[in-house]
Amino acid sequence: MPKINLMPKEMAELIAAGEVVERPASVVKELLENSVDAGAKHITLEINRGGILYIRVTDDGCGIASEDVRLAFLRHATSKIKTVADLDGISSLGFRGEALAATSIVSRIELFTKQIDDVFGTHYIIEGGEEKLFEENGCPDGTTVIVRDIFYNTPARMKFLKKDVTEGNSIAAVFERLALSHPEIAFRLIRDGKTAMSTSGDGKLSSAAYSILGREISSTLIPIEYNCDIIVSGLVCKPAYCRKSRSAQYTFLNGRYVQSNTVMAACEQAFKNSAMVGKYPAFVICLNVPVQTVDVNVHPAKIQVRFSDEKKIFDSVYIAVKNAILKGDTRPEIKLPFQREQKVTRMTAEEYRSKTESLPITPIENAYFVKQNTLVKPTETKKDTVVTANEKLVFNSDDTPFFERDDVRSFIAKNNIDISINETEICEKENTVTEKEALPKPKKECPEETLKEIKYIGEVFSTYIIAQMDDAAYFIDKHAAHERINFNRLKKNAKAESQQLLLPVTVHLGREELSAVTDNLDVLTEAGFEIEDFGNSNVLVRAVPAMLKNQDVNDMVVESAKNLVIKGIPESEKLDRIYHTIACKAAIKGGNVTTDTELEALAKEVLSNNDIMYCPHGRPVAFKLSRKELEKQFGRIQ
Ligand code: ADP
Ligand code: MG
Repeated sequence: MPKINLMPKEMAELIAAGEVVERPASVVKELLENSVDAGAKHITLEINRGGILYIRVTDDGCGIASEDVRLAFLRHATSKIKTVADLDGISSLGFRGEALAATSIVSRIELFTKQIDDVFGTHYIIEGGEEKLFEENGCPDGTTVIVRDIFYNTPARMKFLKKDVTEGNSIAAVFERLALSHPEIAFRLIRDGKTAMSTSGDGKLSSAAYSILGREISSTLIPIEYNCDIIVSGLVCKPAYCRKSRSAQYTFLNGRYVQSNTVMAACEQAFKNSAMVGKYPAFVICLNVPVQTVDVNVHPAKIQVRFSDEKKIFDSVYIAVKNAILKGDTRPEIKLPFQREQKVTRMTAEEYRSKTESLPITPIENAYFVKQNTLVKPTETKKDTVVTANEKLVFNSDDTPFFERDDVRSFIAKNNIDISINETEICEKENTVTEKEALPKPKKECPEETLKEIKYIGEVFSTYIIAQMDDAAYFIDKHAAHERINFNRLKKNAKAESQQLLLPVTVHLGREELSAVTDNLDVLTEAGFEIEDFGNSNVLVRAVPAMLKNQDVNDMVVESAKNLVIKGIPESEKLDRIYHTIACKAAIKGGNVTTDTELEALAKEVLSNNDIMYCPHGRPVAFKLSRKELEKQFGRIQ
């Protein structure tokens, strides 16, 4: 047995320090957390060469008293806990009291610090654990810590460092998490001489998210809020903007970045049936829970957490996110590629008149406009045919003057609308042959709901419904819409309705499909099927879901079976899968003929119900094209 020797003190210190300081990013994390704990309002982080050469953190926090500076660099020196009891209610970020000590052993540190009430500050240098300088200094309030040449005295550790860019990226990740969890602090990151990121410190999470996650992601975020014993707040992206990876997911527990599979799963569950399969939501979820419900025994540097009641966390996050999606999601908007430099040429009134002088306005043309539900107003030059807003205006085939129609009258009365139209204003604004004026605009004080008039316009390519609501046109995929409506209906009922077949149908299945069906008879029964094993790879179907009553039985059983064959589907998802199949099969198909009445009903249901945003596979049901966007394109507005 080799003889046991006691390690030299310096060697033991180096090993211990190495455990705390793994790489430049771990130093940055400790320094930034110290600045946050010091109550700073502004924190600047500067790094060179991935932090390997140089790390500087400057804050305007409380500073360190001159007599405490040396202490701060001793192991187990901390101002943050005094008794063992303090450990349970710890709210500050770092509390092991060894970050500065450990870092000073494996690098060269220079510190400037001053408390606000002191006349002078302190300038301190410590290298490889040895004090090199301690002097009074006229530095600004707050603290600057500079860490140079990390691991210069531990070549073995140095070898493990990755490329500068990789170390720099890890530092940026640490910075992002801290900046997002403290929107009330203005953070700045300078990387190799250039400002890489900065936040405003205005206290709004949305501002911090804008600076850290970028405009593209942050423009898709909606707020989340849930306030019970667990407080859930933050931001989550709209389902249509889920991403290929989980890289934009941030969870903060009592202000500290953590990773929790429970939070991730709850959030993703809330997106189920709204987001595309294989895409992940972007989110910033902040949880506030009583400290005693979190396992504090986990090492503070580790970011995985355990909760004493994981289910409660799951439910709270799920409800918060689900509500946010239901309340805050809006339909994806079509943005037309308007190019500013491409000038839209407009005729002057004079030019227009000279061109149209020769065009007579025929009764047929008038009739046409009348049919379009619009007021007709020929140009001023056609004095003989001018109609004013409150005379002669005919509407629809029954020839009732527009403002005398019953529905128009009640609409006007209900909305307190001023129908006196200022003619000269219209004529000056528009140099068109007819002035089209849809239902007059209600006065501003009208509640918004009264504007929700949904108008079915038509269908294109036998697939897309065009409808109008408020100040926008909508393009609706008729199949996706119907599929979603069917799916919602199935989900809403506790048990799907069944339709008995007059004669049972025998369906022949492949080996895998057969066992998928026989293994899942309970799920299929819940979905409305009545199926039994009939031997020789056949099943006998006695009843089918009512929604599918006129469909090919063989087809629907085979399709359902295929959806259950896939290995590893969680039990809880099987019924949803069958519902997907039923909803899809029962839905009208793109390319098929559908009556206007059906399409109109579909458009109205889709546009009046915010729960019909995505088909069950996550494709959008409708796109919105705003009037503003169109007007921009036509050069009516800039
Ligand atoms: P801990 O943060 O766990 O207490 P550290 O080694 O990180 O241990 O810091 C030791 C002490 O130094 C802190 O408790 C704090 O009093 C002081 N300190 C460190 N950084 C700062 C700072 N930026 N501003 C004010 N005080 C600081
Ligand atoms: Mg600390």
